[in-house]
Amino acid sequence: MAHLTRRHFLGNVSTLAALTLAPRLSWGADRPPIGRKLGVALVGLGGYSRGQLGPALRETKYCQLAGVVTSDHAKGLKWAQDYGFPATNIYNYNTMAQLANNPAIDIVYVVTPNGLHAEHCIAAAKAGKHVICEKPMANTVAECDAIIAACRAAGVQLTIGYRLFFDPHHAELRRLARDEDFGPFNQMSGERGFVMSAWRWRADRVLAGGGPLMDLGVYLIQGACMAKNEAKPVAVTAQELPKTRPDISRDTEEALRWTMEFADGAQANLMTSYQQKADRFRADGARGWIHFKEHAFAYRGMAVETSRGPLKFTPPNQQALQMDAFAQSVLTGAPSPAPGEMGRRDLTIIEAIYVSMAAGGQRVLVKA
Ligand code: NAD
Repeated sequence: MAHLTRRHFLGNVSTLAALTLAPRLSWGADRPPIGRKLGVALVGLGGYSRGQLGPALRETKYCQLAGVVTSDHAKGLKWAQDYGFPATNIYNYNTMAQLANNPAIDIVYVVTPNGLHAEHCIAAAKAGKHVICEKPMANTVAECDAIIAACRAAGVQLTIGYRLFFDPHHAELRRLARDEDFGPFNQMSGERGFVMSAWRWRADRVLAGGGPLMDLGVYLIQGACMAKNEAKPVAVTAQELPKTRPDISRDTEEALRWTMEFADGAQANLMTSYQQKADRFRADGARGWIHFKEHAFAYRGMAVETSRGPLKFTPPNQQALQMDAFAQSVLTGAPSPAPGEMGRRDLTIIEAIYVSMAAGGQRVLVKA
């Protein structure tokens, strides 16, 4: 097994020059060109790591689970046994600096509550590891800036866990936005929500950064920006909806509606909620439309119609494709399709939405 420290690895990038210049996946085989899969360490072994990312790392071609960061060592041992990595690759949140000495770990995937992303991403970057940061990137734009700066300073790559970039239905939304088959999309709408029946960190201002806007609304923001070819809205207006469970959503919104205005006059009318189940998105142009009727932003089960007929794609493992794409970015130096700057863009929109909400729905410009 070739053990590559980051510097060693970057030093070897020149030997990968042909790959760098070649189209992605050009090596074709099921193994990456460095003789081993890149090692990924998951930070935070909660629901998403357990249910999605761990299993996806059994399907990835270019990376594999090589370590974990957890406060529960016994849980880490169980993961080590299940995934076949040594117990020496179990870290806790206070020992992340020691990742620097572990050449079997190339990528650190931060899957902790939103308010901890900045601390954990910066620790990973300082240890010289490439970083995947879950959505939303952080609680604030300032934290996003700090993550981006730390990754730049360390010379490591950064991506956000925007798995829908790797789903074919969303790829078709992006293609339609780019090629304008239906004209530019000028009206978008969508809702995303679930019923929160007991308090969780997702309703805690410090750990979550806000309420459903942070957790679920970010998908609608992503969808609307995809429909506008990754343009950023110029302004937003937002209204908080009445709380039904103030015992749970004590210091965050429980539901809100907002509008995003784009420079060409297009509008997105969106709603997110911890009061009701919803998962739909629609984009309309002058000559046609695309409608994600069900499970619009889910892992699978999307029902998508267009004015030309339904989309019929075999659902992929979004997370496996996402992590493999990032492994390829690391191997080739090609930029990630979902870089830190995109996560930061979405936080600039979120911050404007919260300013508008606090100001009773005033129109607020989205900052650069
Ligand atoms: P979770 O509550 O199930 O797990 C959180 C993990 O963080 C746990 O292992 C917990 O022990 C650890 N943790 C460390 N410090 C903590 C603290 N102070 N308080 C609470 N937990 C702490 O959450 P999750 O659903 O796995 O979400 C984790 C991150 O992943 C969030 O940022 C979330 O938005 C994101 N996520 C993304 C997707 C997606 O589809 N991309 C899906 C689910 C979650």
